[in-house]
Amino acid sequence: MLLITSPLLQRAGVRHGFSTRKGGVSDGRYATLNVGGKWGDDPERVAHNRRRLAAAGAFELGRLFTARQVHGARVAVVVEGVLPERVAEVEADVVVSLVPGTTCGVFTADCVPILVSDDEGRVAAAHAGWRGTVAGAAQAAVEALVSVGARRESIRAALGPSICVRCFEVGEEVAAEFDRVAPSSVRRAPGEKPHVDLQAANRALLLDAGLAPDHLDAAPPCTACDRERFFSFRRDGAGIGQHLSFVVAP
Ligand SMILES: [Zn+2]
Repeated sequence: MLLITSPLLQRAGVRHGFSTRKGGVSDGRYATLNVGGKWGDDPERVAHNRRRLAAAGAFELGRLFTARQVHGARVAVVVEGVLPERVAEVEADVVVSLVPGTTCGVFTADCVPILVSDDEGRVAAAHAGWRGTVAGAAQAAVEALVSVGARRESIRAALGPSICVRCFEVGEEVAAEFDRVAPSSVRRAPGEKPHVDLQAANRALLLDAGLAPDHLDAAPPCTACDRERFFSFRRDGAGIGQHLSFVVAP
C-alpha cells in the first residue's frame, strides 16, 4: 500500500491520506488499488481495496462520508446520526464534518483533492476539477468550516496528487474561465493551446479565502505524469480506477 500524506497536516496531527494505485487487488485498467465504484470494476475487488485502504489509513469504513460529486461547489455537512448512504446521494463536492470518528472523503483521478482541517477537529474534503475550481469548491470548504465555528487563521489545507500544468491542455473557453478566477494559473505559449495549472489556481483561491501561506501544502505530484503511481482520466480516458483522499475528524 502506498499512501501519500501531507507533512503539513502530519505535523498538525491530522489523520489523513491520499491513496495511490498501488497496493490493491484490481487488475487491467483498474490495477491495482481502485477504490471508485462508478467505472465498472468488480465490486468485490473495490470493496476489498477499500478495506485495505481503511486499514492502512486507520479510519472506519462504516463512518466514511463521500457525496455524489458533480463538479460544483455545494457542501454536504455530516451531522450526528446521519448515515453515509444518505450523504452519498447528496450532490456535493465538499464534505464537512465535526463529528468525532467520522471521515470525509473525495474520489479523484486528475482533479485536485483538497483536505482541510482546523485546530479543533473540524475537517473537510473537497473535489476540484476545472469546473469545481472555477465554481469555488476550495473556498466553499474553507467557508463551510468557518460557518461551523472554525477560526480562519487556524485552517490548514493540503492539495493531493492531481494533473499538472504541462499535462492539462485546455480550450480557450476553459482558459477564459481561469483568466477570470485565477489569472496566474493560465499559461499561453505561441502556437500552442493554453494550459491551466489547477494546483496553482486552487492555491491562489485558498490564499484569497484567507489561509496563511504556511498553512498550505500545495505542490503535489502529477497524476498524469506518473503512470506507476496514479490513475489519470486525461491520460487513459474513462473506465479507469479512482483514488480516495480522506481526512478524519478526531
Ligand atoms: Zn503532468
